[in-house]
Amino acid sequence: MADNRLRTVLITGASAGIGAAYAERFARRGHDLVLVARDRERMEAAAARLRSETGVAIDVLPADLTAPAELAVVEARLRDDRRIGVLVSNAGAALKSGFAAADLDELERLIRLNVIAVTRLAGAVAPRFVAEGRGAIVNISSVVALAPEIMPGVYAATKSYVLTLSQSLQAELGPQGVYVQAVLPAATRTEIFERSGLSTDAVPVMMEVGELVDAALVGFDREEAVTVPPLPELGQWENFAAARKAMLPNFRQEHAAARYRA
Ligand code: NAP
Repeated sequence: MADNRLRTVLITGASAGIGAAYAERFARRGHDLVLVARDRERMEAAAARLRSETGVAIDVLPADLTAPAELAVVEARLRDDRRIGVLVSNAGAALKSGFAAADLDELERLIRLNVIAVTRLAGAVAPRFVAEGRGAIVNISSVVALAPEIMPGVYAATKSYVLTLSQSLQAELGPQGVYVQAVLPAATRTEIFERSGLSTDAVPVMMEVGELVDAALVGFDREEAVTVPPLPELGQWENFAAARKAMLPNFRQEHAAARYRA
């Protein structure tokens, strides 16, 4: 892969939690930044502090990524600003309610943020990265992508989408020089629980956000396709991936499996 080390990083959801920690870490590595979220004041305050502590250039680009016109401004920035070499698609939210009790408009807004924005931002930058033969896209998924049973409603499905999209992009864009990483955090101490009205009572342990992002960046530096910071044994992920791949040749069949034939 071409060197992405000193290129500008655009981070969504950079005003808090995991995104704010990415901003801090990339600034300390010497990257210029573009920070995207809704809360301009919070981003300006972090930007001022990081500029003075690290000397990097930081632009604040406020946008509600569920609003198509505001999302389009971020897409245009990714398309046109050739300094941007890394996209961290991190902005995301969860929902308290299960599927049966969901407000469908709320559910659609969640899909706009967790799915549509992630897709459109990657889609906006991918042609330029492919033309340049370099660039990196980091998508923040979740371990619930692998554990739909543990959260009600559509949140896990949105995170599965992010994982699968990342894997598709790896297959398509990887050979063209673009690095794509899916990061799967487990429970991490951020505002997401409070914001979505989720109780943390049932969450046995939480990782601190700095530790999560430092681990994700070790995976980034190693160009891992999928980084699961809390998983102790990498072999468990590798076995899971191998079991999936072992099925692939068996999907090519002219006839249905014997158990489905009358
Ligand atoms: P957080 O502390 O609540 O931060 C969410 C960030 O997204 C904030 O910067 C927020 O900023 C931004 N955001 C929310 N809605 C937005 C919108 N409509 N438009 C633009 N930006 C928006 O949550 P977090 O835990 O850091 O979450 C970051 C990512 O990690 C999410 O994708 C989440 O699904 C994933 N994740 C989190 C955990 C965990 O346990 N924390 C576990 C697995 C995966 P503004 O309010 O300023 O817009």
